[in-house]
Amino acid sequence: MDSIGSSLNRWMDKDWKERMARLEKEVFAYPGVIDFKRRHPHIPAEEYEKNKAALFEYKRERSNCDACPGLENCPNLMQGYQPELMEDKGKVTVAYHRCSLKVHDDEKKKRQALIKSYYIPKEILHASFDQVDMDHESRAKAGTAALHFASTTVPGEDGQGLYLYGKFGVGKTYIAGAIMNELAARNIGSMIVHVPDFFREIKESLSDNTVREKVDSVKGVPVLILDDLGAESMSAWTRDDILGVILQYRMMEKLPTVYTSNYDYSELEEHLTYSQKGGNERLKAKRIMERIRPFTEEVFMDGQNRRG
Ligand code: ADP
Ligand code: MG
Repeated sequence: MDSIGSSLNRWMDKDWKERMARLEKEVFAYPGVIDFKRRHPHIPAEEYEKNKAALFEYKRERSNCDACPGLENCPNLMQGYQPELMEDKGKVTVAYHRCSLKVHDDEKKKRQALIKSYYIPKEILHASFDQVDMDHESRAKAGTAALHFASTTVPGEDGQGLYLYGKFGVGKTYIAGAIMNELAARNIGSMIVHVPDFFREIKESLSDNTVREKVDSVKGVPVLILDDLGAESMSAWTRDDILGVILQYRMMEKLPTVYTSNYDYSELEEHLTYSQKGGNERLKAKRIMERIRPFTEEVFMDGQNRRG
């Protein structure tokens, strides 16, 4: 009489064999496997038998791709990698390569890594020229000038940037974001700095001696965007030793700077003239303007306030 154990074994054995046979049938009926066999008629049938593990692996992973749930939920062993059957010296093996979603995502990450920002809302960093509506004449002009800049500038060549000014909320910062993305697509690094916040941080850095490091991290980026220049509370020190030093360096290195401001050139000059101490420092202001005016095109932007 059989022990319970051995009949259980036999039953399990039978069940397992049936399952294996079914899986095998599925593997050899899988379109990717059929296609591979058709393209490699010289590989003998016993090779497929010997390399069944590879075929199983291939089908399991590739079926995940067939029902792709998106890169983030990719169930494959290596997320974003797709299996492919390969012939290696007459043997059947599996190789992996990045799927199209992964390639796309890697490219995007590479581009995003080129974009740095100080205190700018994330949404701006996804801005694109496709989304800049050209409904308003001045907005169309600004959009065109910005797109032209972003698609032609070569940092180090002539240092020509852009000066975008207009009322609060018309979309200046948004256009700056679109410029950055366009630059990234051309493999050009950029950084956007919200000037009021940056100056505040710089002042606070006096206590931990990181002023120089912070200025250095900004002054040499291929394309620098100074967002909201004129909205800061200016001191003689931030004007001459921070802004002045950054702009002097960029002028020497012929690096383009893009500005957004609520002020036009002459209003900005006026703003730069009066430091908190109340002194009238027209010459100092002129000096800064000499680093801005000749290196930018002044572009006015109008339209409704999009902040509602
Ligand atoms: P500004 O810098 O001129 O004050 P913003 O660029 O901050 O204005 O734009 C104001 C608001 O409108 C922001 O919330 C921004 O995301 C949104 N916005 C601006 N332009 C666009 C656009 N073309 N498409 C979608 N949203 C936009
Ligand atoms: Mg803004």
